[in-house]
Amino acid sequence: MLTILELPVLNDNYIYLLHDPVSGETAAVDPAVAQPVLDVLEQKGWRLTTILNTHHHSDHVGGNLELKQKTGCTVIAGVSDQHRIPGFDRGVVDGDAVTLGKHTARVISTPGHTSGHVVYHFAGDNALFCGDTLFVMGCGRLFEGTAEQMWRSLQKLKALPASTQIYCAHEYTQANGRFALTVEPGNRQLQQRMEVIDQLRANHLPTVPSTIEQELATNPFFREDSLALQEAIKMVGKKPVEVFAEVRRLKDCF
Ligand code: ZN
Ligand code: FE
Repeated sequence: MLTILELPVLNDNYIYLLHDPVSGETAAVDPAVAQPVLDVLEQKGWRLTTILNTHHHSDHVGGNLELKQKTGCTVIAGVSDQHRIPGFDRGVVDGDAVTLGKHTARVISTPGHTSGHVVYHFAGDNALFCGDTLFVMGCGRLFEGTAEQMWRSLQKLKALPASTQIYCAHEYTQANGRFALTVEPGNRQLQQRMEVIDQLRANHLPTVPSTIEQELATNPFFREDSLALQEAIKMVGKKPVEVFAEVRRLKDCF
């Protein structure tokens, strides 16, 4: 079993520490800052072997150099981001495998939020580390990509097994859910989920991880096929990618 720790840092970021007890290898996914990672490594007696970056934004790579300098870990990121990932060692492309002991992640290229964004799917561990591509009930803003690119990226994630655990890089769930309710107010599962989420946040508890199954039922960026959603945003009969683009546009001005 892969041990997965979720570290809340900065305002709303999550760093994930993945530890394989058999090999002793440990990976940090998107270390925004170094110190909280170093603290956990020391507490647990773990050695950091790998950094997995999803993209180059500073709230995802801010701890790279210090962690690399103090642990000698290898920094892995999308190859097209090699010039803007601090400490970059190894570039990956869609379909590549990344291992942590006997655990293997497949790299999925997901341009849209940024052009070089990649996500890491540990199929054997049922876990997806998706950075700023997919959020709980949301998706990343389109900084360097088109709606069409992001839509295609999200289609790849939609096709993963329904039970896949979604480890995204931000706690944006409550705001995302409030927006989701405006485009699909009659979605019962969404209403019920928001009650649970509001309760969790009132107690300062994380809402991440989620699952692909939960996202299919409640994430408006996965629900361009919903007639109720199409009606609410006046996009009935439009192409799925056009419906998606309109949901993204509405969220940007929400
Ligand atoms: Zn980002
Ligand atoms: Fe981010």
